[in-house]
Amino acid sequence: MTTTSSPHVLVSGAGIAGLALALQLTRSGIRSTIVERADAPRPGGQAVDLRGASREVAERMGLMAGIEPRRVHELGMAYVDGRGRAFGRMSMEDFDGEGAVAEIEIARGDLAEVLREALDEAAAASPGLVELRYGDRITALEQHTGRVDVEFEHAGSASFDLVVGADGVHSATRRLAVGPEELYATPLGGYAAFFTLPTPTDLEPGWFAMRFVPGATFGLRPDLDPATSKAIVTLRVDRDPRLRGDRAAQEALIHRALEGAGWHAETILRAMPGASDFYFDELVRIDLDEPVKGRVALLGDAASCGSPMTGMGTATAIIGAYLLAERITEDPEALPDALAHYAADIAPFAELGKRIPGGGIERMVPASRFGAAISRAMTGVMLSRPFRPIVRRMFAAGSGEPALPIGRAAERHAGAHAGA
Ligand SMILES: Cc1cc2nc3c(=O)[nH]c(=O)nc-3n(C[C@H](O)[C@H](O)[C@H](O)COP(=O)(O)OP(=O)(O)OC[C@H]3O[C@@H](n4cnc5c(N)ncnc54)[C@H](O)[C@@H]3O)c2cc1C
Repeated sequence: MTTTSSPHVLVSGAGIAGLALALQLTRSGIRSTIVERADAPRPGGQAVDLRGASREVAERMGLMAGIEPRRVHELGMAYVDGRGRAFGRMSMEDFDGEGAVAEIEIARGDLAEVLREALDEAAAASPGLVELRYGDRITALEQHTGRVDVEFEHAGSASFDLVVGADGVHSATRRLAVGPEELYATPLGGYAAFFTLPTPTDLEPGWFAMRFVPGATFGLRPDLDPATSKAIVTLRVDRDPRLRGDRAAQEALIHRALEGAGWHAETILRAMPGASDFYFDELVRIDLDEPVKGRVALLGDAASCGSPMTGMGTATAIIGAYLLAERITEDPEALPDALAHYAADIAPFAELGKRIPGGGIERMVPASRFGAAISRAMTGVMLSRPFRPIVRRMFAAGSGEPALPIGRAAERHAGAHAGA
């Protein structure tokens, strides 16, 4: 069902949020252009969880056939000491997929690939409806009644009916439409890094292993390909703006934290310089009163974010993309109404997505040698059988999750007809 009428939607960012939105718009016959700053698809990222509403959205979007063969089948999470011996375990079975490891886990990069493949298919079915442009970005935008004028770094200027900022936690669209990041970003006291490395031979297959050391928590997580694993490093350090975009400085910081830290710290440090998918960012929380400003809508991390510590960024992004596309599709000629509905729809999911299970960085990353010993002791106790129900409740991200506000349009139409 393809109609090539207005609106024309500009999506900034081809991450999970941007790709999912463009996919749904294309399928609904709504024209979109995606601009992605990177020159090519960005690989990388550790396994992300799909449970509850995000799983339902993935099913409704018909993504499960693509997700299934890429699922990482993890057995659970194990906390290890300096010699790699597990002193606490959270197995999938014990926690029914509601622990730190969810029933459906897929690497972020693989989920993006599933979305790109689906988008290619939808684009082939509706030629000319969607354009994905790498290596470009918005440099200016100006809102007018009924349209947004945009300037690009490379592609000149153009007008759109709607601009969606799906350009991540440091969204440039948000800065241009709402104001500087300092207005709504709260630093959470650290940094996180993720990258792929060859799986060490002595690693227990299928287990996501983590270690607490002073100032850092680091781990190795299974990948789809058993020959590789994902390194995860969370650092508890003060904010240093000079780290932004400076990979050498970022690696130096990780070196200082992991040097002599036992277990596979050296393996991680040796692999880090050669990692082609090295990702490093500050842990920040994004709180916006409204994800909509005129004809600019913000989506995914650009709209709300609780940092990778929540494990919920991708889930919130895909839910938001689906809901926004639904609202636009309901009545493409009434975009202001659609955006107001989207803002209301996503609010409870965005709030839930900022909740950090088990507390903030103070709980997750010990500050000192003494703190690391306490963290290890506490983890051992909390993961012992009598305490498991408590931990299970802490991780149950699905609890309190609202039902997806889907099908309301149909209900409203039905109501209108009944009343007519
Ligand atoms: C390479 C990578 C690895 C990640 N790894 C993890 C991880 O391991 N664990 C975790 O919890 N979270 C990770 N994240 C963040 C996670 O993807 C998001 O929290 C979540 O998926 C929400 O997605 P998003 O689409 O809103 O943002 P993102 O996934 O960050 O995507 C934003 C996209 O916008 C692009 N972009 C940025 N600025 C501009 C601009 N000015 N113009 C155009 N495009 C722009 C980016 O290149 C990116 O492709 C990662 C993000 C990236 C980009």
